[in-house]
Amino acid sequence: MYLICCIKIRNFLYLNFIFMQRRNFLRNTGLTLASLAFLNKESLAALLSDPAWKIKMLTDNTGVFTEKGGTILFMLNKEGTIVVDAQFPDTAKHLIDEIKTRTEKPYRLLINTHHHGDHTAGNIAFKDLVPHVLAHANSKTNQQNAAIKQKTEDKQLYPDQTYTDTWCEKIGKENICLHYFGAGHTNGDSLVHFQHSNIVHMGDLVFNRRHPFVDKTAGADMGSWIKLLDKATSTFDKKTKYVCGHAADGYDIVLKSDDLKAFGDYLGNVMKFVDQEIKAGKTKDEILKATEIPGSPEWKGDGIDRPLSAAYLELAS
Ligand SMILES: [Zn+2]
Ligand SMILES: [Zn+2]
Repeated sequence: MYLICCIKIRNFLYLNFIFMQRRNFLRNTGLTLASLAFLNKESLAALLSDPAWKIKMLTDNTGVFTEKGGTILFMLNKEGTIVVDAQFPDTAKHLIDEIKTRTEKPYRLLINTHHHGDHTAGNIAFKDLVPHVLAHANSKTNQQNAAIKQKTEDKQLYPDQTYTDTWCEKIGKENICLHYFGAGHTNGDSLVHFQHSNIVHMGDLVFNRRHPFVDKTAGADMGSWIKLLDKATSTFDKKTKYVCGHAADGYDIVLKSDDLKAFGDYLGNVMKFVDQEIKAGKTKDEILKATEIPGSPEWKGDGIDRPLSAAYLELAS
């Protein structure tokens, strides 16, 4: 009996895993496969009916949405809903459905922190809902260039509003400011500050304990990125909450000033390490064999070659 029940549960689980992303599922439930085996049928069914996405409210009306791709920040404002980043069309739809249950207000603004597809592909889901899409001017250019290259122009909703240095607007009680502090992860990354709530969406300017993607094809700059993070921590106060695009498994996407500093130190350690290796006569291939950045052991997992290659490009020339 026990065996049959277990086999049934395992088949049930297997079928569900076909339809769900295993990684998302496990991350969102916080469970391991082994622990699932100890659940009874009722709690298992309840668990599997849970959505693959997650919303965490940071204030009464401001929350973060995570499913696939870069973290979305949203605000249910009395003057209309504001959304920062859009993930993908299918996941954006989940957020839109959820927001529908929480407010009847129309959308006021969609902001893109930068152009990458895991932050802008979902723009199209807001096409008939939102009157304006806002991003840095370079982000719009990068989005257009990427879409032409990938032949996905018909799937884009481009920003109709852009800025170059600072953009601010008061919407209801909230004062929203976008800052451009120079090149970092790309050459078009905005820091989106909800001043009243004191929350900053950093987009992909911070990867929490994960090796970052450094988009040299879109003007990324490691040296400038370090200065940008310094400027961020000196511009905003100690109580500011930061939202980042991506975090390693088990790490949060809502951060404090110290986490920004730690990521800045990590980027500095990447530069220092690559500089030392170049001076010691190492080739690029030899440098890319590194498995850890000295001084920043918390940054683990795959993708270490991305910041190393970028640093090499900046330092070897
Ligand atoms: Zn991203
Ligand atoms: Zn990105």
